[in-house]
Amino acid sequence: MLIEALYVDAEVASHPEVQTFRRRLGMTGTTVSDPAEMFAAVRGSADPEARGKRVLYLTRNRGAFVKRCPGTRHYTCCGYRILHVASYCTMDCAYCILQSYFHPPVLQYFVNREDLMGELDGCLADGVLHRFGTGEFTDSLIWDAWTDLSSDLVRRFAGQATSILELKTKTARIDHLEGLPHGGRTILSWSLNTERVIRNEERGTAPLEQRLRAAAEAVAAGYPVAFHFDPLIIYAGCETDYRRVVDRMFDAVGPESIAWVSLGAFRFMPDLKATVERRFPHSSIVYGEFVPGLDGKMRYFKPLRMQLFRALCAAIRAHAPQICTYLCMEDDEVWRHALGFTPAERGGLSRMLDEAAMRRCGVRGRIEGQGEGPCAGECA
Ligand code: SF4
Repeated sequence: MLIEALYVDAEVASHPEVQTFRRRLGMTGTTVSDPAEMFAAVRGSADPEARGKRVLYLTRNRGAFVKRCPGTRHYTCCGYRILHVASYCTMDCAYCILQSYFHPPVLQYFVNREDLMGELDGCLADGVLHRFGTGEFTDSLIWDAWTDLSSDLVRRFAGQATSILELKTKTARIDHLEGLPHGGRTILSWSLNTERVIRNEERGTAPLEQRLRAAAEAVAAGYPVAFHFDPLIIYAGCETDYRRVVDRMFDAVGPESIAWVSLGAFRFMPDLKATVERRFPHSSIVYGEFVPGLDGKMRYFKPLRMQLFRALCAAIRAHAPQICTYLCMEDDEVWRHALGFTPAERGGLSRMLDEAAMRRCGVRGRIEGQGEGPCAGECA
């Protein structure tokens, strides 16, 4: 994770977190009052998306740290709460939506942790079961080389009994989290894919074997874990490959430690296609059988999605019939075909996940079924 340039917002130049980053990076960086020039330089480089992965801007979050998933009206939502602690990523997946989400994409980390914790404490005090995650606009664990935020959050969630935190990643280093008093309230989760997709489309991420080994280590340290098969990429032979990944997942981790497994098929806003073609010329992921969805995103032709979902749900159930398996951004027809029920028949997806959190993490917050409807659920 090579950072070539560090910029510090003048407003936070003396913040203790900035000093920590400077020390761990071995860089003083440039203090700026206005980041426009820095953004322009990144935008003007030959590969702005790659350059942005080497430029780090430390600033403060001037908006809300806690956000609800934005999503769309058209697909079933998981009711997730985003902790917006940072944005962009040091790894480089061909399908990553963040490449075209930020203009330009630059690594940004918000150092005003005191505001984050204040907001979080307010949410945790309302007695409702919330599921929080930091992995929406970034990978949850890439920042841990420079900051102890993840450890701090794990401890904070251990000290309450209503809500859970999910740290979602494609990395494999979790030794710094293993000895923490987590109380089972943090779920460590991994995005999984086939060896072929990881090798061809996920530059700089941990190999499958290492992700699964890290998950096994997490379980040995007492953490609940979760897995996300997202994005599923359709190619000749993919069903066999994905079944093999399911088998390996259960070889690594027993079902009693798994909070949930999600499945999401590759989907993308049309303007991502040009970025993938420019930055990943060897990649063929944008040339499948796609049709525009109700949310404007390109999605695989529905029968193809349904077939793959159904096969993978059957493979998961063959190992663990009771495990909470859900689909990301799909409608009732797809749910029924893949899983044999619709979320509404189980009280809604949000309730399904809340109940899984109660079972696996021992939390006792009030279930409100919040968040039915929209879901972004795009990253990591
Ligand atoms: S998809 Fe996730 S891991 Fe991959 S580059 Fe984007 S944020 Fe990083």
